[in-house]
Amino acid sequence: MRIVFIGPPGAGKGTQSTRLTRQLGIDYLSTGDMLRAACRDDTPLGRKAAEFLQSGRLVPDHLVHEIVRQRLAEPSAAKGFLLDGFPRTVPQAEEFDRWLAANGQKLDAAVSLSVSRDELLSRLALRGRQDDDRHVLEQRLVHFEELTRPLLDYYKCRNLMRVIDGHGTMDEVYARILDAVGVK
Ligand code: ADP
Repeated sequence: MRIVFIGPPGAGKGTQSTRLTRQLGIDYLSTGDMLRAACRDDTPLGRKAAEFLQSGRLVPDHLVHEIVRQRLAEPSAAKGFLLDGFPRTVPQAEEFDRWLAANGQKLDAAVSLSVSRDELLSRLALRGRQDDDRHVLEQRLVHFEELTRPLLDYYKCRNLMRVIDGHGTMDEVYARILDAVGVK
């Protein structure tokens, strides 16, 4: 199965999507994790991405595409994968579609977790990651609304969009996700 997960920071994408990948036995690919690891390891790509990560801006597409392409080419991704945090914009989704077509693959579902702004801010206040300070967070929420929300229509037009209510307990939300992707 090939799934993309879409949702604003704090929506619970990381938790829900790692659980789903374990159950399905597919690779979990988070572009946020990959980019943070590249920074930590001080790779050439990581050095270019660092300033964007710290300020909460989106990392330029060519860098993100490079890191995703490399990871998708690894043999373990052939059995399926869940992408968390990519695509994040319509141009990224178009690039991803070109990659899928070139590799004779199809996406099975785009899952979006929908959570109110108040709930997001209170969840993020508890999380305390370095790029979670108030100003940077506001910035990431604005980017989500402007750049990522249009993806919902992109995948709706392709009949792939599954919008999930992200409120409630982790188990409740997870059950909705399983239902939406047709896993019993
Ligand atoms: P969250 O889901 O909480 O926003 P992520 O771990 O997905 O956090 O992303 C953290 C940061 O990594 C983003 O603020 C952005 O700078 C960068 N990033 C991750 N994925 C992408 C992407 N697809 N395109 C551009 N930047 C990205």
